[in-house]
This record gives sequence, structure tokens and C-alpha cells, in this order.
Amino acid sequence: MTSATVTAETILPFEQARELVSEHCERAGKLVPAVESVPLLHAVGRVLAEAVRADRDLPPFPRATRDGYALRSSDLERLPAELEVVGQIRAGGTLPSDFGSLASGQTFSIMTGAAVPAGADAVLMVEHSERAGNRMRALRRVSAGENVVPRGSEAKSGATLIERGTIVSYPQVGLAAAAGAASVAVFRKPRIAILPTGDEVVAITQQPAQNQIRNSNSFSLAAQVALAGGEPLQLSIAPDEPQRLRELILEGLEADLLLLSGGVSAGEFDYVEGVLREIHAEFLFTGVQIQPGKPLIFGRVPKPGLPERFTYFFGLPGNPISTMVTFELFAKMLVRAVAGACALPLHAPGARLVAPVRVKSGLTRFLPARLAGEWNSPQVEPVRWQGSGDLAAFAKADCLLVVPPDREEFAAGEMMCVIPLC
Ligand code: AMP
Ligand code: MG
Repeated sequence: MTSATVTAETILPFEQARELVSEHCERAGKLVPAVESVPLLHAVGRVLAEAVRADRDLPPFPRATRDGYALRSSDLERLPAELEVVGQIRAGGTLPSDFGSLASGQTFSIMTGAAVPAGADAVLMVEHSERAGNRMRALRRVSAGENVVPRGSEAKSGATLIERGTIVSYPQVGLAAAAGAASVAVFRKPRIAILPTGDEVVAITQQPAQNQIRNSNSFSLAAQVALAGGEPLQLSIAPDEPQRLRELILEGLEADLLLLSGGVSAGEFDYVEGVLREIHAEFLFTGVQIQPGKPLIFGRVPKPGLPERFTYFFGLPGNPISTMVTFELFAKMLVRAVAGACALPLHAPGARLVAPVRVKSGLTRFLPARLAGEWNSPQVEPVRWQGSGDLAAFAKADCLLVVPPDREEFAAGEMMCVIPLC
């Protein structure tokens, strides 16, 4: 599927729409954002702009992984074996400078995290020994390498520990800290413009009249953008009037990505698509066979004066749940791409339905649901909701239950796919 095949009304099945957005993520991700250096903890959720490398071997010495006795495994071939304890090595401890190599028949008592001395090739667990003065009797054999992590076996000095493009989370923070990276290079956060539309939509700081709706979408989207590693720019609310809408769309297109909410259905005052056409936007699709979120628009506008450079936009449906779900399914990956992050596949692990589900076939559904059951036998139960405007129901959900488009009935106990919300 390429943009060449797109017509004025292009409503795609879910998988094709995802594929098309990921193709464009690849293109959008080729524009390298500016780089800044930040203290390690400020890098959480950011995208690494330079690989983090090992500043020394990991581990830096052959590390004992048990409390016990460092020895030559060949000394324990015949049991019982008795060895002479020639000293003790604590974690962080050093050997006498004149110590050469452990001789046959000798052993050091050693603690977890200490360096195994030269000549020793294994650690016998203390539980498998008896001690009397400087004599140690081994009750079990050990094989060469047992309870020792060899120097450099986790990473060699200079090796890449964390690839450029990785989104930093706590495992990467731990590794970078172990490599002494007190600050790291990250990409500047992309600016993601958020443009709410609708005559009925008012600022959340305003007391709405009875016929008005607070602008919740700008806030849920800003939160989603921030979680995806972007810098949300909340634009003014556009009225359902083409002139002002056009001004605000042009303002939004100066950002790295524009997210519109509302005004994309077929209503008489839904001007978003028309205004985008006027400014020569290229539409990549104008709908997806999903629920919630069918009237989803994806496209791009050339950047003025920059050939082959585009600002992408999504026209997200205005219903609050549709806005959030379509962001998760489609817009998030483009935020990550313009943030310089490596592609992140969408995984939908399995869980068993608690109760039967009935739907009309034809659309892939992403229903608000809750995970239950034990960690190794997850279950999923849809949340009762009043449709895609029901924020109260959605706030109770912790996952989306994926209902495929080809059947109408799903029995209790059936294995379904879920997309955790986080
Ligand atoms: P629309 O897509 O413009 O037809 O809007 C669909 C529904 O979403 C309507 O009930 C709107 O009032 C509601 N809606 C649109 N924009 C917002 C917004 N920014 N915040 C909360 N609800 C909205
Ligand atoms: Mg509207």
C-alpha cells in the first residue's frame, strides 16, 4: 500500500492503516532531531541520541556469585577433598600485592561480588563445605566456571551497551549508571501541536454553559504525547468556521506533527478535511474500519521551501474515547518516529474472555476492558460503556479488548488479544 493508491475516500482495514502509518514513520524518522545532553535521570522516557558504551569490561573482574570458597575445580575431582584456606576475599577487597596465583590444594573464602583470584576457576557454595580452622572440607564437586561470571562476559570495554534510538527506561538507567554515564545525549523532544475543534468546546478553566463541553481532548492528548516522548503544544480551540480553523491549522503545521481533534465526520460543520484540502494536504487515508475511531484522517503537508519534507497530521475523531484510542493505535508511533525512536511494534498479548461478547461484524473493535485473573492466566472483561464519549467508563479500563472484524459472537473462555493501556 503506498500513497499513490489513495483516493479521496480511502477507508482502510486496521492492519493496512497501521502498515501505511509505519511506512511513513520510517520516512519521518529519517529527519534527525537536535541533540542535547541531560543528567541521566532526566533521560527517562527520552530517546538516546548516542549509544551508551561500556567504559570498562562488565564485569570488570571475574565475579563470585555466591559466598563460599574460590578454588580449582580439579582439586575436587575426588571427594571428600580437603583444602587449605589461605585467606579471605570480601566484596571490594584486594589480595596482597605479592599474591601470584592460587596453587593446587589452596582455597580462599570468598564473598558474593568479590573478585575470584587468579588460578581459581570456580566457587564452591559455603553450604557445600565444612570448616575447621584453616582447613575446608568440600562436600560436593564443582565444575569449571561454576558460580563465577568471567570478566567482560556481559560486555567488553568499548562495546555498545544501549543503542541510539532506544527509549530510556529503568533498565537502561541502571546500565548507563553502571557504565558511569552520569549524563547522556538525547534527542530534543518533538513539538506535537494539538488542535481541538468545535463550537461547543470551551476551555477547562471556564464554567461551561449547559450546551457546552469542556476541552478534555487537548488534555488527554497532551498526556499521551508526553508519555510517548513528545512536547505537547496546546493550540487555541478552533471554532467550526473555516477561516479561523485554517489559521490554527497553519500554526499547528509549524510543529513536528499536528493532531486535530473533532470536525472530521460527515456533519455539515465538519470543516477539517475541507480546509486541509484547500491547503493542498495529501491524504493518506480518510477512515479506518475500526470502532471507536472510524473517521480517522492521516495525511501530510509539504514543508514550505523544503522539498521532500512534510509535516504529518492526524485528524482524530472528537469523541474523547475515539481520540485516545486512535492516538494509541496510530499517532503514538509517529510521535515516537519524529522523536527519533526505533520502531516499536504493537503487541497484543492474549487473555480469556470472562463473559460472552456480541458485536456486529465488519469493524475491528478496541473496547475498553479490564484485566483480571492471575498473572499466568489472564482474563479480560469489557467495561460497560455508553459508547465513544464515555470518559467515565474509559477511566476504569486498563486495556483495550481487540475484537476481530470477521465474527459476531465470542464465547466466555475464548482467548482474545488485549492492548494494555499505559
Ligand atoms: P466531532 O468529531 O467534532 O463530531 O465531535 C464528536 C463528539 O466529541 C462531540 O460530542 C463533541 O462535543 C465531542 N468533542 C469534540 N471535541 C472535543 C474536545 N476537545 N473535548 C471533549 N469533547 C470533544
Ligand atoms: Mg465537532
